[in-house]
Amino acid sequence: MTNQFKGVIEQLNKICRLRGIEPDELEILRKPDRIIEVSLPVIMDNGQIKVFTGYRVQYNNILGPYKGGLRFHPKVNLDEVKALAFWMTIKCAVADIPYGGGKGGVAVDVKKISKSELERLTRAYTRGFADFIGPFKDILAPDVYTNPQVMAWLMDEYNHIKGENTPAVVTGKPVEIGGSLGRDTATSLGGFYIFEQVLEKMSAKSKSASGGKIASNKNKISLAVQGFGNVGMNFALIAFAAGYKIVAVSDSAGGIYNKKSLNPEAVLLHKQTTGSVINFKGAENISNEKLLELPVEILAPAALENVINEKNAGRIKAKIILELANGPTTPAAEAKLLKKGILIVPDVLANSGGVIVSYFEWVQNLQHYYWEQAKVKANLKKQISSAFKKVWQTMEVQGNRKMRTAAYMVAVERLVKALKVRGI
Ligand code: NAD
Repeated sequence: MTNQFKGVIEQLNKICRLRGIEPDELEILRKPDRIIEVSLPVIMDNGQIKVFTGYRVQYNNILGPYKGGLRFHPKVNLDEVKALAFWMTIKCAVADIPYGGGKGGVAVDVKKISKSELERLTRAYTRGFADFIGPFKDILAPDVYTNPQVMAWLMDEYNHIKGENTPAVVTGKPVEIGGSLGRDTATSLGGFYIFEQVLEKMSAKSKSASGGKIASNKNKISLAVQGFGNVGMNFALIAFAAGYKIVAVSDSAGGIYNKKSLNPEAVLLHKQTTGSVINFKGAENISNEKLLELPVEILAPAALENVINEKNAGRIKAKIILELANGPTTPAAEAKLLKKGILIVPDVLANSGGVIVSYFEWVQNLQHYYWEQAKVKANLKKQISSAFKKVWQTMEVQGNRKMRTAAYMVAVERLVKALKVRGI
C-alpha cells in the first residue's frame, strides 16, 4: 500500500508555512470533502457475477464543481485516488479554471476483461455514482486505461438514469456526441507548449543557469518518454513533428532506445500491429527503469506515479523532467533532483492541458455551440501560457528552481482567497 496522500499533505503544509497561511485556512484543504466507495456487481461473459469496488473522491469544490478522471488499473486504491483528487484541486486552481478537484477509479485489469465486460463495468460504475455526479456537481474524464468510448458509455447510462440529454457530465467524449475537437491531444499539446516555454526561459538564462545548458538546435535536444498511451504517444508525435529528437519511448511491456532518434509515427504503427513498442526495428530494447536513467536532455514520464523515487533519483541524467503523468516523482526523489540542479516541471502545470480543454468541452456542451479546432488550440495556448507565466514569476520571486512549490503557492492562494470570500 502506498502512502501518497500523506506525502501530498506534507507538501501542502510546507507551502502554507512558506506563504504564512493560517492553519485553519489550510485545514479545509487537508481532507477530501467526500469519499464514496460503491460495490459494483457485473455479470461476466461466463455468466458469473464479479463484484468490483468503485471509488470517487470529491476533494474540494470551492472554485467550482468537482472535476477529475476515472482510472481503471489493477493497482487503484483509495490512497491513490485521494492523492489524485487533491492534485486535480491544485491543477484546476493553477490553470485558473472554475473547477474543484475529484478523481475516481476501479481496481481492474482491462486487458483481462472483454469489451462487453468493460461496458457493463462502466455502466455499473455510473449507476453506483449517478446521484453524486452531474454537470454542476462532479464531471468525469478519461484517465489511465479509460478512453472516449468509456466516457460515451458513462454519459449514455447517466442520461438514461436522469431521463435527460446531458453531455456535460463527462469530458473527453467522442466528438460525435459532444466531445471537443482537440481534447484527445490536449494534455500532450499543453505539455508541449509548457516544454517550449521552459526551453525559452532556460536558453535565455543559459549562461548563468546551473544544471547544465540545453542545446540550442531542436534536433540536438533529446527526449525520453515513458508511457506510449494517450499522453506519451501524442506528446512524442508532437515533439517529433516540431523537430525534437525522441530517443526512447516505452509502454508496460518495456522500452526502446535509439540515440539518433526514433520516428514515433513508425513506432505507433508497430504498436498497433504487435501490441507493444518493444522489438521495434532499428532500436534497442530497454527496460522502463533504464529509460528513466538515459543521458537525455528531457525526460517525460507519461505513465504512472512514483516511477522516479529515492532508489533511482541519483542516476537520473536528464536536465529537465517534464511531468506529463500525475505524481511520477516522489518528494524524496525531488529533493535529490533539485540538489543536482534538475528542473522539475510539475504535473499540476505540465499536464493541465487536458483539464483546460475539458473545461472548453464543458462550456461548449452547456452552450450547445461548438468551436473549431483552431479556436480550441489558441485558447489552450493562451490559458496554459498564462498559468506558466504566473508559476515561473512566483518561482523567480522565491529565487530558486522549485517549480512545484511555486505552482502550489499560486493554487493555494487562489483557493484560500475564494474560501475567504465564500465563507464556510
Ligand atoms: P493511457 O492508459 O492512455 O496510457 C498509459 C501508458 O502507460 C500506456 O502506454 C501503458 O502501456 C503505459 N504503462 C502502464 N504501466 C506502465 C509501467 N509500469 N511502466 C511504463 N509504462 C506503463 O493513459 P494516459 O491517459 O496516457 O495517462 C498517462 C498519465 O497521464 C497518467 O498519470 C494520467 O493520470 C496522466 N494524465 C492523463 C491525462 C489525459 O488527458 N489522458 C490528463 C492529465 C494527466
